[in-house]
Amino acid sequence: MNIDTKALAEKYGTPLYIYDFDYIENRYTTLKDAFAGKKSMINYAVKANSNLSVIAHLAKLGAGADCVSIGEVKRALDAGVSKYKIIFSGVGKRDDEIRLALEYDILLINLESEAEMKRVEMIAKELGKEARISIRVNPNIDPQTHPYISTGLHESKFGVEIDMAKRMYIYANKSEFLNPVGIHFHIGSQLINLDPIKEACGIVADLVRSLKAIKIDIKFFDVGGGIGVVYDDEVTISAEAYTQAIFETTKGLDVTLLCEPGRYMVANAGAFFTKVLYEKVNDGKRFVIVDGAMNDLIRPSLYNAYHKIEAVGVDADAEKTPADVVGPVCESGDFFGKDVPLPPLAHNDLLVIHSAGAYGFTMASNYNTRAKSAEVALQGGVDRLIRKRETYEDQVRLEVEYLN
Ligand SMILES: *Cc1c(COP(=O)(O)O)cnc(C)c1O
Repeated sequence: MNIDTKALAEKYGTPLYIYDFDYIENRYTTLKDAFAGKKSMINYAVKANSNLSVIAHLAKLGAGADCVSIGEVKRALDAGVSKYKIIFSGVGKRDDEIRLALEYDILLINLESEAEMKRVEMIAKELGKEARISIRVNPNIDPQTHPYISTGLHESKFGVEIDMAKRMYIYANKSEFLNPVGIHFHIGSQLINLDPIKEACGIVADLVRSLKAIKIDIKFFDVGGGIGVVYDDEVTISAEAYTQAIFETTKGLDVTLLCEPGRYMVANAGAFFTKVLYEKVNDGKRFVIVDGAMNDLIRPSLYNAYHKIEAVGVDADAEKTPADVVGPVCESGDFFGKDVPLPPLAHNDLLVIHSAGAYGFTMASNYNTRAKSAEVALQGGVDRLIRKRETYEDQVRLEVEYLN
């Protein structure tokens, strides 16, 4: 971001999320261009960053949405995503969510179990509708990523095995109320190696060929999300290499290719800004205590994830010593970085925590009755507030009759 972030931190206060919308546009067009010549749809995974302005920005560029709750479906619709570009995934959809998804007439309900298929069929019957469905197949591939974000092994809770999927397609194809038009897999997140994706793609493409052979015409081939991004010094997958691998493994299939990138679109579009409160040394160890905390950005605490941290606008030549950057929350796990090389810092100095655009604000909570940060968009050099900072009143608004 080539912008005076210090001035923005003064204007909007800290802790603060800032997203570069030009970067998001660039990511979208890069990926879309890599699909050139094929029928394709990019369904942005809303859970990565659900701010309505972020979704609306992508919708204007032509993106669809991949949603994992009816709330996310509502966000996508409110943000202007066409209903025919919305997919609803997730292992545990409630009846009311299924009913609304059918009433909204979105592109696909992505089924994750046989039991769920029966519920969708029943609800579609009640509504007198035919549900367009896809099935999430679990190709049993080790994505070589963090176990918490690995989803494509048989032992994971996501999707169904190939044989079960085939039985489900045969059932759905016969049902008056189900229209099986899609297939889906998503093997994990932050994938930086193409081989597992290629392998999964090949397995699922073979299943589609065998379904087409028995006249079950799969039209949407959804390769999920998971393209890795650079947090540190990772060498990750390029858009071209990604789509080439998909083209190769789906050769000869007449399908529309769908993908569901979340992190790829927004992780490095965003940064989290936090101010130094205090410094202290405990038993020879340097701590920098900041005004942001794990409730704002939980990835370091939850996954031990690395985020690059730098001081903003301090003397670049100052000698750096390692420090743990920690927040005020009452948990030992409340940290943003360990042994981060930082110059001497004073009260109110600004730190930037990079790559915070995905799974940052969306995972924020009110733990310790801390208000959620404000969010700001930057586009063409212009900044605008896209979510106000929460107040105490916002937090307690739903708590009633407490003095009885
Ligand atoms: C989380 C998720 C995504 C997005 O993953 P990224 O790693 O952010 O690209 C896509 N599809 C499904 C089904 C998901 O659960």
